[in-house]
Amino acid sequence: MRVSAPRLIALNEPLAEELGFDPLALASPEGLAVLSGNRVPEGAEPLAMAYAGHQFGHFVPQLGDGRAILLGEVVARDGTRLDIQLKGSGPTPFSRNGDGRAALGPVLREYIVSEAMQALGVPTTRSLAAVTSGDSILRQEGMLPGAVLTRVAKSHLRVGTFEFFASRGDTEAVRTLADYAIARLYPEAAHAPSPPLAFLEGVIAHTADLIAKWQCIGFIHGVMNTDNTSIAGETIDYGPCAFMDAYDPGTVFSSIDHAGRYAYDNQPRIAWWNLTRLAQTLLPLLGESENAGLAAAQQALDAYPALFERAYANGLRAKVGLAEIREGDSQLIADLFRHMADAHADFTLTFRLLCDSAEGHEDSLRALFANPSALDAWLVTWRQRLAREDHVSPAQRAAAMRAVNPAFIPRNHRIATVIAAAQDRGDFAPFHELVQVLRSPYAEQPAFAAYAVPPEPDEIVAQTFCGT
Ligand code: AMP
Ligand code: MG
Repeated sequence: MRVSAPRLIALNEPLAEELGFDPLALASPEGLAVLSGNRVPEGAEPLAMAYAGHQFGHFVPQLGDGRAILLGEVVARDGTRLDIQLKGSGPTPFSRNGDGRAALGPVLREYIVSEAMQALGVPTTRSLAAVTSGDSILRQEGMLPGAVLTRVAKSHLRVGTFEFFASRGDTEAVRTLADYAIARLYPEAAHAPSPPLAFLEGVIAHTADLIAKWQCIGFIHGVMNTDNTSIAGETIDYGPCAFMDAYDPGTVFSSIDHAGRYAYDNQPRIAWWNLTRLAQTLLPLLGESENAGLAAAQQALDAYPALFERAYANGLRAKVGLAEIREGDSQLIADLFRHMADAHADFTLTFRLLCDSAEGHEDSLRALFANPSALDAWLVTWRQRLAREDHVSPAQRAAAMRAVNPAFIPRNHRIATVIAAAQDRGDFAPFHELVQVLRSPYAEQPAFAAYAVPPEPDEIVAQTFCGT
């Protein structure tokens, strides 16, 4: 089913160049026909992928690309092989009761947040383009403008893809899928004594690193179902995701996450749970006997907590400006988080302003805390700890900290404003400005300082929606 009047909202020119595409050709009427799903590009054989998944802990044997279509693969200029997929271009055999379409709001959110994640250094699917379809679609809120996102990923294979075949008892298909994933994503695993085990270990290691990065920037995915968990270790399926403003470890944004299963502080554990589902699908490939398979899977899964903790501790240590590992560091960092929680201090700004404190400018950081005396005591201990690394100058330390503590994140109230302007007035200027600012999250950008500011109480957008 064609969309009626595709119009370009955004074309990610740097990404287009990386992929070897001519941005002008993509923005032409022929290009737009492809980016909206109205025309199949030459040589492509589009397909919708089947997958299953555990949604909020409950197994659903058949999900699949209900509103996405994989156009094919391209080899980027650097040799990486990437999937190109349209999201929202129309119904597929997996649409179930859905319309296969995407609303403008969620498309803009995915474009903004995925590109921000890339600039922040977090593995993620990318956004190549967003177009409005010219059609209205029906959602809970009423009729909304439709849009199509062109998404680029190392792979769209999910834990749920393996679950689809495993739940049907089709071990040969699981083997074929694992072989494909190894060749495409984990080529070194092919030379291991047990390639499926090395593959599982690879996914576990990549996922541990990914989640540590999320935790370090206050990102909340919101719907970490196994069908939204990438085998490539990339952040995928931006739905009700949002960044935390005031630090509260139990933060939940998603309107449907009533039990807080996917709360900020639960993400590391949930990722482990999802990896356990992946391991289960691979059991028949992991050993000669059932017991041998189980033992191998268990050993691989047992490595996750330490892998995550190490990556997270390293990330946090860099955030507070520590170059070395010393006893007591984790307590020091835990104490800071406790003060932040007590004061409802803004997560991003606390760490950004701590960079200034490394150079002796503490006033703005102290101003974040309603009662700074607890923070003052902490700062004394922190300075004593920094003094033990006196080969690092204050300026060097502050610079290193500013390279890991962003000034700019896609704050939820900003995303809401951008979506409202686009949806209500057809004004995309705020969207473009936000995307531009988020390209350099670690730079000062004084002209855009307002984007670094947390929401005022009446600006807070505390809930997000899947938008499906
Ligand atoms: P999500 O959790 O948003 O990634 O989506 C869960 C499942 O619902 C996936 O299989 C999607 O393809 C499917 N889905 C979501 N929205 C739609 C829609 N508008 N039409 C058809 N399928 C959809
Ligand atoms: Mg999904």
